[in-house]
Amino acid sequence: MADAGTRRPLDVLVIDDHPFIRVAVERMLRKLGIRRVVTAENGLDARQKLDASERPDIIFCDLSMPQEDGLSFLRWLSEHRADIPIVLVSGEENEVLQAAQRLGKSHRLDVAAVLPKPVSLERLRGVLDDVGLLQSTETSARSQLPQLSADEIAHMMVEQCFEVWYQPQIATSSRQVTGFEALLRLRHPDLGLVPPVAFIGVAEQNGLIKSLTRFVTSESIRMCGSWRQAGLDLGVAINISAYLLEELDALDHLNALCAEHDVPNHNVTLELTESALTTDGTKLLEIMTRLRMNKFKLSIDDFGTGYSSLEQLKGLPFHELKLDKGFVLDAVNDTRSRAILENSLRLALDLKLKTVAEGVETQSHLDLISELGCDVAQGFLIAKPMPAADVADWTLEYLAGLE
Ligand code: C2E
Ligand code: CA
Ligand code: CA
Repeated sequence: MADAGTRRPLDVLVIDDHPFIRVAVERMLRKLGIRRVVTAENGLDARQKLDASERPDIIFCDLSMPQEDGLSFLRWLSEHRADIPIVLVSGEENEVLQAAQRLGKSHRLDVAAVLPKPVSLERLRGVLDDVGLLQSTETSARSQLPQLSADEIAHMMVEQCFEVWYQPQIATSSRQVTGFEALLRLRHPDLGLVPPVAFIGVAEQNGLIKSLTRFVTSESIRMCGSWRQAGLDLGVAINISAYLLEELDALDHLNALCAEHDVPNHNVTLELTESALTTDGTKLLEIMTRLRMNKFKLSIDDFGTGYSSLEQLKGLPFHELKLDKGFVLDAVNDTRSRAILENSLRLALDLKLKTVAEGVETQSHLDLISELGCDVAQGFLIAKPMPAADVADWTLEYLAGLE
């Protein structure tokens, strides 16, 4: 699972032999908006984790550890990954910290700071701010993305710059791949690969979402057919906006696509967010019932981000509840998120719904959701979204790794 394309993403690596300190620092980093934190208990462990991950933005390293101490790790780092900034953390007296800092510098390492223990949130914030990391957390980076104008989106559609990428979902019990979620990407001539956050909202307000969804639907059902031809019986999940539900011929379109590409309707899941559920209730119920009679699967997306859906859930013919990544990401460290996760899973069980957790970034996330009885996992731990051309190879390689 750890070739260059599927290395786990990583913002910060924390190395400390004390489990309590690892948990405490990780929790503080998350509070500061750093999402992808990996911890290691000694230098050796850290080297393995670095090998399996993308380059972290920074490393926090304790100095005194059994097996391989911080000083040997500094030497290794200088020989292999000197480009990664490091913060030295220690409970030793100041002289030792200063000496270690000089040692790091003489190794030509980028020693960003030295932090005496105990590490406080404020000190951590100061260090992250100094190295510019507070600005580059995912949410702020994303909110800095320009919103494209409706004209530009329309133009990009004519130029065929949109692509569908796919992210795998696996069964938590058997670890088998169950299917892929189709996710839009825009290959912009100037901006490079642009994520949906930069254009979906605008497209929804301008009616452009209709053609975009048609594009994703046609592409992904065609791909699903090609996977079947390659002997892979996989599902495909498509994000559907409110607008499409109101289209009278949406069902005909879906039926025709499945027939054309020899895909059973039950291999297609339609993911609806709460915004899609705000349409007129009776009409929605009619459309959903008809989709379900035609054997399409219906999933409630981003579950947990709003509460109105709880009521609606009871009356609507869903198959699946998809837990939002925010809760999954935070549940490992935050008892409130964990409670929401547990309750949602219990609710799903009562309503006999299949459950999918997104945002499974680490083994602890996977362990937690499996323990709580969630059926399917999706997230960076398994794989990031990938271009269509990579899906079959990735799947075969993944399945081979299971044997
Ligand atoms: P979503 O439906 O909640 O899709 C999951 C998002 O979480 C994807 O972001 C995916 O890349 C990201 N993700 C998956 N695993 C992880 C993880 O382990 N950690 C983290 N931090 N993130 C993870 P993406 O592709 O940027 O899509 C964002 C949203 O854009 C989607 O959220 C969906 O609401 C919307 N979207 C994407 N494609 C379409 C589309 O074809 N139609 C419509 N209407 N909306 C779409
Ligand atoms: Ca989705
Ligand atoms: Ca989500």
